[in-house]
Amino acid sequence: MELVTSRKAMRALTSDLKSKGRKIGFVPTMGALHEGHLSLVRKARAENDVVIVSIFVNPTQFGHSEDFAKYPRDPGADQALLEPFTDYVFYPSVAEMYGENKSEKSITHEVPVAIASGAGSSGNFLNFEVGALGKCLCGLYRPQHFEGVALVLSKLLNIIQPDRVYMGQKDFQQTVLVKHLIAELFFETDLVVCPTVREKNGLAMSSRNVYLNAEERGKAAFIYQALQQGKKLVESGQKDPQKIIAGVKSFLNDHGFDKIDYVDLREGSSLWEVLEVGSEKNGKIVLALAVFLGKTRLIDNIVL
Ligand code: AMP
Repeated sequence: MELVTSRKAMRALTSDLKSKGRKIGFVPTMGALHEGHLSLVRKARAENDVVIVSIFVNPTQFGHSEDFAKYPRDPGADQALLEPFTDYVFYPSVAEMYGENKSEKSITHEVPVAIASGAGSSGNFLNFEVGALGKCLCGLYRPQHFEGVALVLSKLLNIIQPDRVYMGQKDFQQTVLVKHLIAELFFETDLVVCPTVREKNGLAMSSRNVYLNAEERGKAAFIYQALQQGKKLVESGQKDPQKIIAGVKSFLNDHGFDKIDYVDLREGSSLWEVLEVGSEKNGKIVLALAVFLGKTRLIDNIVL
């Protein structure tokens, strides 16, 4: 396994690999790796000649009051976990991804404004307008988040030019956004969405789970149970999305969740609101939620 920190070196490597006809599988991550990430890496290993994993805590997808500074970082442990399955780890600095004259602090707090006004002091000119896809669910509560995701994914896909990119269903909205990004910017890559890996108690694995204390960890098991409650309502014939959402919320309330960002039912490929469950107009439907346990915001979803 080789560590690559420069985008020029990474691009030269992948151009060479592609010229030799090698298939490249790419797994973008923010590090603090766990079994959820490794499931993507293993799948990439099984389906490609070369596996590249990026580790980059992307400042532009964090809001002002979010946890960019304290987001868990452990590159040594990450590399040890990746070693058996990975050919290259792309581990760029913020300067490498966003330009030389930017500190991590200024980019997190100033870039969205600088970008919105054209070419600000940060020197960045381009921003994404992600439209309705990025304005519902998590987008309502994390206003610049999906713009930052679209920006960094575009940079990464452009540098690495993978044949396949692997992402987790855990971040369902992100997978829908990236599907559209790939199609609309003509990236020649296939998105492979992999199932959510869970702890034994049902809690979706997440780098942010390290923030939870023992009591919160116990409580966190109810998140998946709440989603299962929603599924049961659908299976028992409930077609009214508002009743299903209310059922999930009241389960969460009953189990001590007092801060719920949202519980929502959305059409899986467009993220449009579902007016009636089971209507032929719907494809697959996703039941998604975001809740707080203390200061930790957790998301989860199931596809119905
Ligand atoms: P992150 O490092 O949180 O940005 O996640 C990197 C990739 O791993 C994303 O595509 C996530 O959806 C995916 N991922 C994170 N947690 C899980 C999980 N529990 N199961 C499956 N995929 C996951």
